Amino acid sequence: MSQDIITCEEVVDRLFEYLDSELDPSTQEEIDRHLRRCHDCFSRKEFERRLREKVTASGTEKAPERLKQRVESLLKNH
Ligand SMILES: [Zn+2]
Repeated sequence: MSQDIITCEEVVDRLFEYLDSELDPSTQEEIDRHLRRCHDCFSRKEFERRLREKVTASGTEKAPERLKQRVESLLKNH
């Protein structure tokens, strides 16, 4: 039972906490492992990370409308 125990759904659920490093180290590690194997989750993680960088850089809590729409369509299409 040393297979992946974390699912894509769980990764997506925890993505924000993961990016903030708010998870316990073993969960963080499991997500890391999942991301190395799962291209879907990896792209999503990279997308979110870049989005956050942009939001932080622009000094506002609110993501630009265009980016918000991209996030929404990304979530819907998954
Ligand atoms: Zn995945």
